[in-house]
Amino acid sequence: KKITIAIDGFSSTGKSTVAKQLAKELGYVYVDTGAMYRAVSLYAMNNSMITENSFDREALIEKLPSVNLKFIFDENLGFAAIYLNGENVEEQIRKMDVSNHVSKVASVSEVREKLVSLQKIMGEEKGIVMDGRDIGTVVFPNAELKLFMTASPEERAGRRFKELEGKGEKVSYDEVFKNVVDRDHMDTTREDSPLVMAEDAIEIDNSFLTVEEQFDIILSLAKE
Ligand code: C5P
Repeated sequence: KKITIAIDGFSSTGKSTVAKQLAKELGYVYVDTGAMYRAVSLYAMNNSMITENSFDREALIEKLPSVNLKFIFDENLGFAAIYLNGENVEEQIRKMDVSNHVSKVASVSEVREKLVSLQKIMGEEKGIVMDGRDIGTVVFPNAELKLFMTASPEERAGRRFKELEGKGEKVSYDEVFKNVVDRDHMDTTREDSPLVMAEDAIEIDNSFLTVEEQFDIILSLAKE
């Protein structure tokens, strides 16, 4: 029987790595909800609603109906890439400048409302692995399996830094560390759907687990 798997947790805890592997192994659909919040942020940045030190919430809310998001499976990536108004933005949304603004955008209730309802529609078909911050609490409170991933901020910043460096982005470890801590803070203190662990979620601290060890644990939980 196919189930719904919700994976939540702080930024850079390796949620997407696990979720992708799990979806591949089980033949499920993988949905990265962080990509959706990132794409809306990119839209706001491209349309000058966000600059270095200003954010025009009202303008974004007004334009929300014209933000069209779509996932299209990409053979090369092995998962679905996100399209913003017809353009593949999978690469752009991973950049540091988007990471720096995304939690502000994710705190806008109208944005959350729009994305949560899209996510619920995607979940109507069973056999889905969705990762984010509010999947087990808000999007799929009835998910059969809920995981909550944690790791120390230093560990997470180190991983994210390596990843960005590998892509040739010019960032410092300190900048990445600050971004991880800032996003944790904004994600846990926002008014609308703050990041909390669902009561029935299983917490996995992967500070000291390899990707393989972690995957073995999670796969056995999914097969229970
Ligand atoms: O998962 P990722 O780190 O790409 O998410 C980027 C940001 O989007 C998070 O820091 C959070 O502010 C927001 N987000 C959210 N709810 C989700 C997924 C992401 O608020 N379900």
